[in-house]
Amino acid sequence: MPDILERKCHDCGSGIGELHRPGCDMEVCPFCYRQLIMCGCCYRLLGVDVSKGSRAYSEGLSVEQEAAWERCLTEQGFIPYVPIPIACVSCGNTLPKMFGADDWHLVVPEDLRGEVLCWTCYSKAKAGQAVARGVFCRLCGSAEIIVRPADWLDVVPPGFRRYNLQDADLCSTHFARLREAMLEGWRKAKRPSAKGC
Ligand SMILES: [Zn+2]
Ligand SMILES: [Zn+2]
Ligand SMILES: [Zn+2]
Ligand SMILES: [Zn+2]
Repeated sequence: MPDILERKCHDCGSGIGELHRPGCDMEVCPFCYRQLIMCGCCYRLLGVDVSKGSRAYSEGLSVEQEAAWERCLTEQGFIPYVPIPIACVSCGNTLPKMFGADDWHLVVPEDLRGEVLCWTCYSKAKAGQAVARGVFCRLCGSAEIIVRPADWLDVVPPGFRRYNLQDADLCSTHFARLREAMLEGWRKAKRPSAKGC
């Protein structure tokens, strides 16, 4: 499997640490951490009436309002593309195969019921073995974890906050890669122009 950090945004093609192109369906809103093209923060923050029958309801933002919204976003700071895989909370297995279990609430320890477990760890729990939260790199599942450096929060991108992952661990390789990408990418990045421009 290619390294998670080699991935490109499937919609706009941005690489890790780069900003999405306007209108990308993967872009996260820097105000609410939901999908930017769907979240409605633009109406709320600009105080635009979007109720049924209003102009914005049928036509969206005006050109002036679009420009004002772009200024709001720029000031808040765009969230760059960082792929964060789904991972088993116990063993760190990234992108585990999904499954359904009717006895989840009986088998899985209470503090892990809202989390992702891989089939192997679920089966262990079902067999009565202890299954607990593990320590692993959130991007590759490696158990080689670094002690958190002083610039941790500067390097871990804001997108992690969307998933409450700012406290997640990273291996030294991935921390170094993120640091490099973040410093080169989004800090000095200007948002690229829309597709087709
Ligand atoms: Zn994108
Ligand atoms: Zn929002
Ligand atoms: Zn597992
Ligand atoms: Zn890693």
